[in-house]
Amino acid sequence: MGTRFWSVLTLSMLMTGSATAQSAQSVLQATALAMGMENLTSIQYSGSGWRGRVGQNVSPDRDWPRVELPSYTRTIDFDTMSSKEEYVPEAGARVTSLVRGDYAWSLDAQGAPVPQPAAAELRRLEILLTPWGFIKGAMAPGANPTMVTRHEYGGRSTVISFIAFGKYRINGTINPDGMLERVQTWVPNPVVGDMYYENVYTQYQEVGGVQIPRFHQHQDYDDGANAPNVSGGDHAFGLETVSDLQANVANAALTVPDAVQSARVPPVRVESQRLSDGVWLVGGGSHHSVAVEFDDHVVVIEAPLNEARSLAVIAEVYRLIPDKPIRFIVTTHHHWDHLGGLRAYAHEGATVVTHESTKPYYQEVLRAGPWLLEPDRLSLYPPEEWSEGYIFETVNEKYVLADRTRTVELYNVQGLAHVAGMLIAYLPREKIVVQADLYSSTAQAPDASARSLQRNLERLALDVETIVGIHGSPVPMSQFVEFLSAGQ
Ligand SMILES: [Zn+2]
Ligand SMILES: [Zn+2]
Repeated sequence: MGTRFWSVLTLSMLMTGSATAQSAQSVLQATALAMGMENLTSIQYSGSGWRGRVGQNVSPDRDWPRVELPSYTRTIDFDTMSSKEEYVPEAGARVTSLVRGDYAWSLDAQGAPVPQPAAAELRRLEILLTPWGFIKGAMAPGANPTMVTRHEYGGRSTVISFIAFGKYRINGTINPDGMLERVQTWVPNPVVGDMYYENVYTQYQEVGGVQIPRFHQHQDYDDGANAPNVSGGDHAFGLETVSDLQANVANAALTVPDAVQSARVPPVRVESQRLSDGVWLVGGGSHHSVAVEFDDHVVVIEAPLNEARSLAVIAEVYRLIPDKPIRFIVTTHHHWDHLGGLRAYAHEGATVVTHESTKPYYQEVLRAGPWLLEPDRLSLYPPEEWSEGYIFETVNEKYVLADRTRTVELYNVQGLAHVAGMLIAYLPREKIVVQADLYSSTAQAPDASARSLQRNLERLALDVETIVGIHGSPVPMSQFVEFLSAGQ
């Protein structure tokens, strides 16, 4: 009796499984037909839209800053997984992003290829997030799509799901009208972990026999329904109007340039430079950190980019200053390129020193999860009570880190458009100011941020000899003054 029960149960489960697989395929086939893509091998479409500068909002509760794209063209070849995306942002230079399979590159102003090996996987994934790429990916041999239904978009919608590249779950929601209305996935991000990434497709129109929607992309969440709003960035891309669409265009399959084929992701490079006794600039990449030795501990200013960079910087700090723990990590502002290493320092046992306005967001960043796609140390080996919020010191207008050997003063920069809650560090004995994104030694002409640094140094009456940038090289104050007057 028992055996018979189990065999009947197994048989009915198997039948349910194959029925689901079959109906997923038939739903996909019907959707492909409705979208006019039965014979589609490549596509090129042009139009106008916008992109959001992800991770660069003015304050954590605001949306990603929007850049208008009056001219946008994308060409995709599905068989070779080639994509070429070209746009000219309003008041900016042309951007061209390319991928074929495992190889990604961009074009410089002269049209020469610039390898971007680290961007290949996401660009390849993005092909599968387009309306036509999703249908093709889900119908590809071995995709084994699953299917659930639910009440959404005013009726019974179907969610088809498959795993891309053995790693990324991609869900496509087919609305009651039989059109693909949303494609969602999660991508690894050094600040928020498995970052929510979705495209919403509405207002389909037929151009040359193929259906193309309005594109509307979210990256990360907007918790705007909460008060106070902690995380506000989400709008990442939109294609509002379509001026041209062509199916099966010639030359959509890209050729990978030789320089791109041989390029590899470069290892993290760390180079340190002594600024004063016990003060080091730890650079070697696009974003630097500054290490300051105290009597029995170390303070690091800035945890940029990602965990790999931060672990290399932490190792260098311990080489320069052996046997003293990194007790404080000071972060200048919440932009993602300056924040991606924060969790590595939290794991290391450092207290986070930040402007009080960014603390709720940083708490969310340190707690956020899951971190399954690219786990970091904080997610794998969290220290005790790391998410309770005890590991923060907040700055309002001024905060001082000091012992008998050293003083570091932190000030909030006032009247700055770049970001809210920006901190600069001042070492009174060494007459050094450390700042991010206000002034770089490589800047051509003074901008509003450089002017605001000048105004704040005057307001605070700081006696400065050296300006140290998180970007660029340290410069004497006299050079900064000259730079400002040359721009007048
Ligand atoms: Zn910034
Ligand atoms: Zn920066």
